[in-house]
Amino acid sequence: MSTVVPLTRLTSAAIRQSSGRGFSTSRTSHSKKHYQLLVVGGGSGGCATAAKFARKLGKGHVAVVDPSEMHYYQPMWTLVGAGIKTLQASGRPMQSVLPRGCDWIKDRAVSFDPDRCTVTTGSGEQIGYDFLVVAMGMQLNYSQIKGLPEAFTVDRSVCSNYWSETVTQTFPALEALQQGNAIFTFPNTPIKCAGAPQKIMYLADHYLRKAGKRDNTNIIFNTSLGVIFGVKKYAERLLDIVKDRNIQVNYRRNLVEVRPDKKEAVFVDLDSPEGKTETFQYSFLHVTPPMSAPDPLRQSSLVNTDGYLDVSKETLQHVQYPNIFGIGDCTSVPTSKTAAAAAAQSGILQKNLQAVMSGGKTQSQYDGYTSCPLVTGNNKCILAEFDFAGQPLETFPIDQGKERRTMYHLKRDVMPELYWNVMLKGYWNGPALTRKLLHLGMSK
Ligand SMILES: Cc1cc2nc3c(=O)[nH]c(=O)nc-3n(C[C@H](O)[C@H](O)[C@H](O)COP(=O)(O)OP(=O)(O)OC[C@H]3O[C@@H](n4cnc5c(N)ncnc54)[C@H](O)[C@@H]3O)c2cc1C
Repeated sequence: MSTVVPLTRLTSAAIRQSSGRGFSTSRTSHSKKHYQLLVVGGGSGGCATAAKFARKLGKGHVAVVDPSEMHYYQPMWTLVGAGIKTLQASGRPMQSVLPRGCDWIKDRAVSFDPDRCTVTTGSGEQIGYDFLVVAMGMQLNYSQIKGLPEAFTVDRSVCSNYWSETVTQTFPALEALQQGNAIFTFPNTPIKCAGAPQKIMYLADHYLRKAGKRDNTNIIFNTSLGVIFGVKKYAERLLDIVKDRNIQVNYRRNLVEVRPDKKEAVFVDLDSPEGKTETFQYSFLHVTPPMSAPDPLRQSSLVNTDGYLDVSKETLQHVQYPNIFGIGDCTSVPTSKTAAAAAAQSGILQKNLQAVMSGGKTQSQYDGYTSCPLVTGNNKCILAEFDFAGQPLETFPIDQGKERRTMYHLKRDVMPELYWNVMLKGYWNGPALTRKLLHLGMSK
């Protein structure tokens, strides 16, 4: 495994294949290509954006650059890890989710030249654009944890819901667990879906109780954060839950090494000036890796000092290049990075990019809406929804801070349908309108 694990290792074969053959599904395969709109990244945000604009601009004017053979609905991986859904159910071929009329350049973007309005791909092809949307998601940096890449291959009790190649290991590891420490980690970097590291923990607790193994196991949440969740309302409820379920939470602990031969996990105490470490024995280890924006973006001139696409948090327009916009996890927008946030951003981006394309100015402003369905058991969920200020922005006129079965069904059964059939087709801009209606116009 390389020093920095790319977003999905599974894409590397596709990358090699595409660069080897110079393969692309786009319309002019040998000449220099140019598009009115080029979207880099065909994940949640990129696919939704391409759908909106392919409809508007017509065939051949929009292209998506993405090397991945498969498009995954990653929020389902929490349930895959708990044995409730399959990996297969969470993915569809990329070709089938990209909009008709949009060209798919099945390759990786390796560099950006915003002054010349070009993107260079892994095969060395330069693609020109009038407007660019960057939607590259996050890179998973598993290799930054010493011993972890090897641990994944030699120790079947080490798993991670964050990657298509490791998520299928989570449930078998839980089934094999008989006693000892089940440790769940949260890294010292921004991550996508900040609730996911603990959702799988509650599902594991549920499973272990049902299987009669909970009395022999200690569940431990070692988090780099100083709080259990960033929004006070939901954090208070989660603190009650960890207490009720006898889950030990250790704050400011960052995983730095895994020693599979001794079944040890080493954590740094982030509050210790001398970098004191603490070693835990594990019988089960669920790792949430450190993350960053993808390397080609980080190495470009388009990023802020933290390495994320430097956009206005309200308009999603690049601070320096007005013909560049961003959506989703790879941007500097200071909200919790989720597909729900990308959906809400897609409506703002559509209006603002359309305005700029027609020679006007951006007008719509994103409020930071994001959502995290905090699954707290096999039939329970707290649907956290909030804005930039961490203020709840709940869709339903009930207290969403409570664990509810209805919210669990929303997460398990309704959201995937909404994702595949509405969001990816460019018709879902988040629940703002529904929220206003349900609150009789009295909500933001
Ligand atoms: C375990 C887990 C649970 C989650 N739970 C939830 C949840 O309950 N609710 C929720 O709303 N969100 C959840 N999320 C987060 C959600 O999946 C992401 O926030 C969302 O997918 C972000 O969309 P995006 O378009 O920014 O990135 P992605 O959907 O990750 O897409 C990025 C795309 O960019 C492509 N790409 C990367 N590098 C390059 C390159 N160099 N060139 C070209 N293309 C490139 C990738 O192949 C990928 O297709 C969860 C995520 C995980 C992993």
